[in-house]
Amino acid sequence: MIRQKIVAGNWKMNGSKESISLLINGLLEMEGSNSEVVVAPSFPYLSQVESLISGSAIVLAAQNVSQEVKGAFTGEVSASMLGDFGVKYVLLGHSERRSLYGEIDALVASKVKAVLDFGLVPMLCVGETLAEREAGKTLEVCERQIQAVIDVVGIAAFEGLVIAYEPVWAIGTGLSASAEQAQEVHKAIREFLAQSSESVSQKVQILYGGSVKASTSSALFQMPDVDGALVGGASLDAKEFIAIVKAAG
Ligand code: PEP
Repeated sequence: MIRQKIVAGNWKMNGSKESISLLINGLLEMEGSNSEVVVAPSFPYLSQVESLISGSAIVLAAQNVSQEVKGAFTGEVSASMLGDFGVKYVLLGHSERRSLYGEIDALVASKVKAVLDFGLVPMLCVGETLAEREAGKTLEVCERQIQAVIDVVGIAAFEGLVIAYEPVWAIGTGLSASAEQAQEVHKAIREFLAQSSESVSQKVQILYGGSVKASTSSALFQMPDVDGALVGGASLDAKEFIAIVKAAG
């Protein structure tokens, strides 16, 4: 099955009106690509980025969402609000949210549901810590994080979401998983999904994230179960990000 590649930039809590304008103008110089190119700015810049990318093939993502629909939830942002700004994807279960903000599997699953209910596409991040990898628990952790979502939204809903395998030890550390390590886990995730639905397992796009750079991306993208990348640090540099998009083809 041919799955379109996605190259998504997670800008995290970085940027200003000025730097974002420069970054997007740099990205707009990119040649057409067969891959879907996605950028995820912080909430205050969604409107600015929506305007700047209008008419281009670049797609907008958000970095978080509330699990609630509306109401007295000070400081929260709902899926419908994200939809108002042309957001397609929402990052959920990112390891920084899990470890720094206590987002447990059940909360991540309820956010996935809120996003799907509103017709947006969750980008569900899963991955093990270094201690878990060393204890041989990589697949157990990824499967637990995915199963918690299946339990709430059902396997069929996975046709409408993207998974990002992001080993925690590789995020922001400069230590990328090798292409072979990524492939091994992506294949295992696909096999795990196939236990519930073979067709869903073949359709779902599985991105790799964790210190992806232009220099490492070509090898990653050659792996049969790697359907793109979720890029943090390197997505803040237009030239580097464009080189990753080019490597994806
Ligand atoms: C991320 O935050 O999703 C990420 C993969 O970051 P980095 O590329 O900087 O490791």
